[in-house]
Amino acid sequence: MFTPSLDGAPFSSPVGKIVCVGRNYAAHAAELNNPVPDTPVLFIKPADAACDLQAPLSIPLSQGDVHHELEVAVLIGKRLQKASEAEVSGALAGVGLGLDLTLRDVQSVLKEKGLPWERAKAFDGSCPLSPFVSAARVSDWQNLNFSLHRNGAQQQSGNSADMLNPVLSLIAHMSHSFTLNPGDVVMTGTPPGVGPLNVGDSLELALEDWIAVTTEVVSPQASEKSL
Ligand code: ZN
Repeated sequence: MFTPSLDGAPFSSPVGKIVCVGRNYAAHAAELNNPVPDTPVLFIKPADAACDLQAPLSIPLSQGDVHHELEVAVLIGKRLQKASEAEVSGALAGVGLGLDLTLRDVQSVLKEKGLPWERAKAFDGSCPLSPFVSAARVSDWQNLNFSLHRNGAQQQSGNSADMLNPVLSLIAHMSHSFTLNPGDVVMTGTPPGVGPLNVGDSLELALEDWIAVTTEVVSPQASEKSL
């Protein structure tokens, strides 16, 4: 069970589930040779996917490439069911960053066979989350700058203005299929620049001047030893 932090204090609810959207930035869809979808491509990571981005990241090593996908993460504060955009706007507790870790080689095989993506996207620890800051700081959900540096070099940088489905309408849309509860997290899609992680990588993630997180990638054995 992972309880996110909001403005430096533990949030009132642990993460229940993480609802994600694929291909929400045209330039990322293009880099993976995917068509831009007519309706949002949604998938869910379970509670055990959530973990602390500030702790060393333990990545699976035996199933091919693990890609980082840097995404704006939204922490839900109030229950949302078949909600309007106005209701969504009043129900968001926090904004932060998440990594939608993806076993890319596994996903490619699953996609080829027309099978579900869970093995590639929803494994334990597949969604490291930064601390969140209050959603009240956000004056415009479609003007958030964020970036990921890997070993000192910029790997991903995005602005939420480039989203195909803007945050409020995306979450309203999600709530028509999946009730969102306090502690649930919405991942809003990745800009281009995804790529494989290696053991020993150091990562710096930033959202506006609100969040700056440094973390490192370790092998599963190393992270177990550090416990
Ligand atoms: Zn993603």
